[in-house]
Amino acid sequence: MRRLIKKGTKLYSVLNNLCPKCQSSKFWPENNPFKNIFVKNGGDIGNCSNCQLKFEVELGFWYGAMYVSYAISVFISILSWVLINTFTKDISILNEILIISCSLIFMSPVVYYFSRLIWINIFISFSEN
Ligand SMILES: [Zn+2]
Repeated sequence: MRRLIKKGTKLYSVLNNLCPKCQSSKFWPENNPFKNIFVKNGGDIGNCSNCQLKFEVELGFWYGAMYVSYAISVFISILSWVLINTFTKDISILNEILIISCSLIFMSPVVYYFSRLIWINIFISFSEN
């Protein structure tokens, strides 16, 4: 699966945690989203160590990642809801809300990780040099 996605595509950068421009240096210090939240500055490394791309392109650039984060959160909520209703019968709406909320809280480091990667890949494309 990994070999099907070629270097130079945005999906390659997002799935392999790479700088969107050079795709040879890491975007987050750790590949595991749960480890990143315990790293200094929430894992924000500022610049690419290879091509010196400033990840926060302009002041407040990461506010846009909120919209990506919102979309991912809605997807997780719908997925949880489908899974709950597939594997359980007669569950109260309050318990459903509780399970969906807990899954969102648990997945928040993953949402944070992918929302920034997707957001920066929307604006910055791969270039060889
Ligand atoms: Zn780079």
